[in-house]
Amino acid sequence: MEKEYLLANMTWQEVEKRLEDCDIALVPLGSTEQHGPALPVSTDHFIATQFAHKTAETVWDNHKVVVTPPITFGFSPHHMEFKGTITLSELTLSSMIADICHSLAQHGFKKIVIVNGHGGNETAISNALHDMHGNIDAKVYHLNWYDMAGDKIKEIVTPPVYHACDMETSVAWYLGQRVLEDKRVDEPGKVLVPGFIIPDGLAPPPRATVSYSFKEITESGVVGYSTKATKEKGKLIADLVLERLVSFIKEIGKM
Ligand SMILES: [Zn+2]
Repeated sequence: MEKEYLLANMTWQEVEKRLEDCDIALVPLGSTEQHGPALPVSTDHFIATQFAHKTAETVWDNHKVVVTPPITFGFSPHHMEFKGTITLSELTLSSMIADICHSLAQHGFKKIVIVNGHGGNETAISNALHDMHGNIDAKVYHLNWYDMAGDKIKEIVTPPVYHACDMETSVAWYLGQRVLEDKRVDEPGKVLVPGFIIPDGLAPPPRATVSYSFKEITESGVVGYSTKATKEKGKLIADLVLERLVSFIKEIGKM
């Protein structure tokens, strides 16, 4: 039997039939935003979608999950000074997430997993989850692919791990994203408050935050060392992320 996990390719009757087997749906979520001179604006939703597809393929024998079409726009006002970025408001994004989850739940998907690829979306996701809690007949889970390997990433890549960096470029490249190899640049990003506000997603405490535009911390749009990126590093990280995504689906599949 062919592994048909793309909801968009299925008829309504096939979806109805699938629900007799499996009630898990994955919803890839990303952004359309600048990723420096070497990576296209689709990078966040491209990576999230690839991970969702690979997860569905890998768990197929035990769990015939479906993957919805990706949410390709996210919350990216902090990238709007770079051309090609398209942002939703936080309210639009959280409403969109909730509407998609309510639709899936109404049809019988009882476990919905938002596979996120963009840090800027986390508040909107969390707002949507709080909003749905208690008024949706499903469990809605949220995970960020980059958190799935957060404990190992620093052993593999050059920090900062932030934006269009060594890590993100390596993973995107390995997964098949277009990479303009000779346009890759290194820009560690401007430290806004020394010791407290450092552009690095894995920076250790102490930490403080402030609202800022990416233009304030980077000229190129990159925060990190994208010239260090390789497909080999991307594979190391992607394999680990996938292994943990698969474990997660197996765990919720038992519930
Ligand atoms: Zn990104």
